[in-house]
Amino acid sequence: MSTARQTWVPATMTATPRNQLNAAAAELSSRIRGAVRTCEPMRRHTTFRIGGPADIFVQPADRDDLAEALRFSRAKGLPHAVIGNGSNLLVGDKGIRGLVIRLTPRFNEIQWLEDGAVVGAGAPLARLVKEATEAGLSGLESTVGIPGTIGGALATNAGTDTGSVGDLVIGATVLDRDNTLQEWGARQFAYRYRYSSLSQEKAVVVSARLRLEPASREEIAAKVQRLRYKRASRQPLRAWSAGSVFKNPRGVAAGKVLDRAGAKGMRVGDAQISRKHANFLINRGRATAAEMRELIARAHALALRRYGIDLELEIEIVRE
Ligand SMILES: Cc1cc2nc3c(=O)[nH]c(=O)nc-3n(C[C@H](O)[C@H](O)[C@H](O)COP(=O)(O)OP(=O)(O)OC[C@H]3O[C@@H](n4cnc5c(N)ncnc54)[C@H](O)[C@@H]3O)c2cc1C
Repeated sequence: MSTARQTWVPATMTATPRNQLNAAAAELSSRIRGAVRTCEPMRRHTTFRIGGPADIFVQPADRDDLAEALRFSRAKGLPHAVIGNGSNLLVGDKGIRGLVIRLTPRFNEIQWLEDGAVVGAGAPLARLVKEATEAGLSGLESTVGIPGTIGGALATNAGTDTGSVGDLVIGATVLDRDNTLQEWGARQFAYRYRYSSLSQEKAVVVSARLRLEPASREEIAAKVQRLRYKRASRQPLRAWSAGSVFKNPRGVAAGKVLDRAGAKGMRVGDAQISRKHANFLINRGRATAAEMRELIARAHALALRRYGIDLELEIEIVRE
């Protein structure tokens, strides 16, 4: 199984003693305006509702805060991870070492233009779709029902068979690995199916410029409605999940492969493969990350054994 997306924190990183964490958090807190907490349960910040504590959890109030938090983590030699709504993440039971920097619900300003928008990285896609419909701007309809932020969507090139966010990007303001604000053009993201260069470049999106097409509000609203209905009829949207766990292999849907292999309903503890959609793994209530990982491994092995298909992860597994 591909491990390309499993590289956030070195597996050998050991836990920092509590008093050192508190001291580091207090120091960071004195330097920024946003909230800083220690040992924050990540299950509160992921749609799987799974995940142990983040050593230091930061919600920057603005760009200066964000830059300061990134500077701080580098100066102290602490790893950091930037997250949006945590809707594509499986965080380990022992949590995340170092800093977790959550951009939403801040960074949520949206400036509407005649043919697009400038959007803060923390803005939810759901709000974008709603306001774009009201503004008579088409292009975002394919993202309806994706519970992420625009920052997360740019990082993962979120989308469906009707289009991906990367198709709409003109450019973005990013903080690069040297903590310098840069203007990126669309090409720098090197977009392909559910991939962007952001994590490889260790760059953080602050805001993005999107190109949208003026269109009739009624037509956009009808398309949104149709796609929302289609999603609700196929996916277990009320369950705790991270959406599709595996990427679609070329020419076939991962969900179909798993369905035909008989994966629906398979269970490890409280982790279960949805009976509605075989590529959605759900937390029935108290699933642990270990249970979810075991279920993912079993689904992967099943597809390999039955059809010789080596499914690649779409979600990110954040190891403790
Ligand atoms: C019910 C459900 C349905 C879904 N349907 C779809 C779908 O149809 N299509 C699809 O593609 N996905 C889908 N997803 C997965 C997920 O919603 C998307 O991948 C979404 O774009 C992730 O956004 P997020 O804000 O939650 O990012 P997170 O999960 O918080 O983070 C994902 C990645 O983005 C990075 N990141 C986040 N913000 C930034 C930033 N500002 N700068 C740099 N990197 C950043 C993180 O470091 C991480 O690597 C679904 C999930 C659920 C729960």
